[in-house]
Amino acid sequence: MSNHVVATVLNQAAFKEILAMTLWRQLALNIYRRATLPYRTRHTRQLCQSGHAPISVVVFHRIADDDVNDWSTPTAAFIDSIHWLQDNFELISLAEAQRRMAMNANHRAAVCITFDDGYEVNCERALPMLIEQHIPCTYFVTAQPVFEGRHFAHDRGARGNTQPNTIDELRHLARAGIEIGAHSRTHSDLGQITDANMLKDEIVGARDDLQSAIGTRIRYFAFPFGRHKNLNAAAFHIARSAGFDGVLSAYGGFNFPGDDPFHIQRRGVDGPSVRAKNWVVIDPVRNRRILRFDYGRSSAIGRPRTVGA
Ligand SMILES: [Zn+2]
Repeated sequence: MSNHVVATVLNQAAFKEILAMTLWRQLALNIYRRATLPYRTRHTRQLCQSGHAPISVVVFHRIADDDVNDWSTPTAAFIDSIHWLQDNFELISLAEAQRRMAMNANHRAAVCITFDDGYEVNCERALPMLIEQHIPCTYFVTAQPVFEGRHFAHDRGARGNTQPNTIDELRHLARAGIEIGAHSRTHSDLGQITDANMLKDEIVGARDDLQSAIGTRIRYFAFPFGRHKNLNAAAFHIARSAGFDGVLSAYGGFNFPGDDPFHIQRRGVDGPSVRAKNWVVIDPVRNRRILRFDYGRSSAIGRPRTVGA
């Protein structure tokens, strides 16, 4: 067998394995969702009545049908998720989420939609749909792949269209009402960077370059990868001093009235629509285990705390 044939057979085997794993995970998630939804819905209703309704911020990456990986969502699943979210939640912007957190009151369970990285393929169906329906969306872009037209390191060897957006596309999106955010210059793990100048370039340098190329103000920064280990207290302070309105993680967790509005917690929901439908409904037991990242914000603003029911 030639190397090419061996590679194709291995690719098909890997593809089947991924698909089987996805179906298995999908089934498990469906069972969990059905079993827990009644008490989670009751809990949400109580939070709404007390003015302490949660705000969930979801993050998608790539809406496409031509590849299977952990950061892609099939178009039909995306459309299904958005329709379901529209029917069951108030869809709000990040600025509105921050306003409710700062006001210490929210009476309706709400969801914010965000995207990370910046894939060209999102301009085919997903973003036009959000624009047409006036659904607020913040689109976080990594500067270097956009400026250099180069694929992300994590897409090396991927099949399908993994081309990053162009500056022209981003200008068009910004004009159409999509808020553009910064997602670092090189998509590095900022949790590993200790050099203040490097951090500044990843956060402020990337923001400034994108801002002048696109022509609109960039207000938010989303950490690449976004788990606790990928965050960095110094980066929070750099972003705040540079005039960002907020920074976003992606380790899960909900945002509540009274929480620090500068740090918005998110959850990745790529994949089948059951993921988005499941994770936006709070499970008080699971949520209690998620600690807000402590970046040592000033006591004048308030102490970081554990998100609980
Ligand atoms: Zn990313």
